[in-house]
Order: sequence, then C-alpha cells, then structure tokens
Amino acid sequence: YFKENTVAFVDGEFVQADQATCSVYAQSLHYGYAVFEGIRAYNSPQGSQIFKAREHYERLEYSCNTVGMPLPYSVEELIQISYQLLEKNGLTDAYIRPLVYAATPNMSLKCASSSNLLMAVWEWGKYLGDQSLRLTISPYERPNPKAVPIEAKISGHYVNSIIASTEAKGRGYDEALLLDMNGYVAEGPGANFFFEKNGELFTAPAGSILRGITRNTIIDLAREAGITVHEKFFTPAALQGATGAFMTGTAAEVIGVSSVDDVVFETPFQDTIGAQLARRYQALVTGALAPALSSKTTPA
Ligand code: PMP
Repeated sequence: YFKENTVAFVDGEFVQADQATCSVYAQSLHYGYAVFEGIRAYNSPQGSQIFKAREHYERLEYSCNTVGMPLPYSVEELIQISYQLLEKNGLTDAYIRPLVYAATPNMSLKCASSSNLLMAVWEWGKYLGDQSLRLTISPYERPNPKAVPIEAKISGHYVNSIIASTEAKGRGYDEALLLDMNGYVAEGPGANFFFEKNGELFTAPAGSILRGITRNTIIDLAREAGITVHEKFFTPAALQGATGAFMTGTAAEVIGVSSVDDVVFETPFQDTIGAQLARRYQALVTGALAPALSSKTTPA
C-alpha cells in the first residue's frame, strides 16, 4: 500500500502518510469505533473516474449517522478530496480508503462528539485474486443485526471478517462464506455472494449483510439483461444443483466461486452468467459500456 512519498489526507491536510500520528488514547483504536469505505477509481476515456463515488460517500454518511459520529465533510467535498488525493499520488486506477474515526483521547463508551477523517489511496489488484474461489461455510456467523447495525460499514465488524477468513484459510480454503444467526447464507468476510440455478440468480436479502454497491450494480446489470434475480433467504442446502456462484465487492470486483465445501459447481466460471456480468461490470466501471445501459450507474 505504502510507497515512499505517499500522500494521505489527514484532518484537513494533505500530509506525508508516514508522518501522520494518532494518540495512544484514541477511542477508535481501543474499541473499533470507526467507519470506513472502500472505493475504486478506474481509468476511463474521460480520465480517472471514481465508480459510484456518491453512493459510497452516502453510505459513509449513513454509517456515521448509525454510530453517532459526526462526518466533518459533505459528500461533494469528499468526492473532491478523493480526486485531489489521487492526483497528488499520481494514481488513476486505484483503491480509495476513507476512514472516519475518533482520534481524541477518550476511554469512555460515549459516542464521540467530534470525529476525524483520513483518506488513503493505493494501487490494489482484485483483492481475492482472479482465480475461482473454493469457499467453506464458516463456523463464525455474521454479527447479529440485533447486536450491531450490520448495514453500516463499521471497523469493529471486521474482526469477525478477519477471524472467519483466517479460519477458512487455515483449513485450506480460499475464503469463508458466513451464515446469519438463523442459518441462512449471508456473505463473505468482505464481499457479497450470489449463486445461479436454472439461469436465475440468488443472493441474500438486506438484513444481515452489507448492502454492497457492487451487489446492487450486478443486480441492475442482470435485470437489464433480462436475468431474474431473487433476493431471498437460502440455506447452504440450496447450493446443491447450482451451476455457478460468484462474489462481489469493490475490492474483489466480480470473482467466480468454484465450490462451497463439497458442493462443486459444474460449469466453468467463464461459461456462467457471473462471468458475463463480470465482463459487463468491467465495461461499466471503465466507462466502456453503452450509455443506455450505464445511465443509472454512471460514476458521479
Ligand atoms: N460485504 C462485506 C462484509 C464487505 O466488507 C464488502 C466490501 N465493502 C461487501 C460486502 C461488498 O460491498 P461493496 O460492493 O459496496 O464494496
């Protein structure tokens, strides 16, 4: 992530990333009390374009509201800062990570009355690689939405992601697939999950997942192509007889899934609906998709 002379945006200023500091008493550091986004910019014929910048920063606003953290910038300002930061680092195709955190020394469990914003950018390949993944159902569940607001992108939730992913890799799989508190398939540690059966797509509904912006984009692209998408609860047993599956996320983009435990999907990923949608997704984010199709989803 980090190269010499990397510039980050910290508390209103562009600074050398390695010069930024944080109090040892920062509330966020101790309690995972922070919210963030994961955003990508792509090279397009119009230059570097941040994909769905507005949607990401609106979700950041939503996350801040959910945890009672003031967001010191407007969506417009955040978009502007993002482009400036890309430019200062000479990046056009990159990952953007804004984090809203409570840096003020505060060891209490009261919501912060003020908050801080940092933003970093770096070049990042597809974070789950580009080979189809072998998934395993995790012994860890996604956090119960009655315990924490799971639709907000809260730093502390990622402890669940880290331990689930590490546990899956420890058993020789590429990634975990987590169930919700009722035993329904929810999502991966950092990506949503879809499977395909009889030419239709299935994915978990809102409720115990992060409502991925990539997930929404894929649902739109599928429906525009006349493919039925079901957003409904399903158990791992529903994967029997599925022809394919994939995961979606800003960092992961669209990545094939070859198996979930001993359920192996028979169709090679490149021949699945998921692969078709992955190609449309790439065309959309790089500004190469026909305007009629991309009108709803053009980058802000
Ligand atoms: N679920 C989780 C738990 C995630 O961390 C992410 C990545 N932000 C996603 C789903 C996918 O969300 P998006 O498509 O908005 O990146």
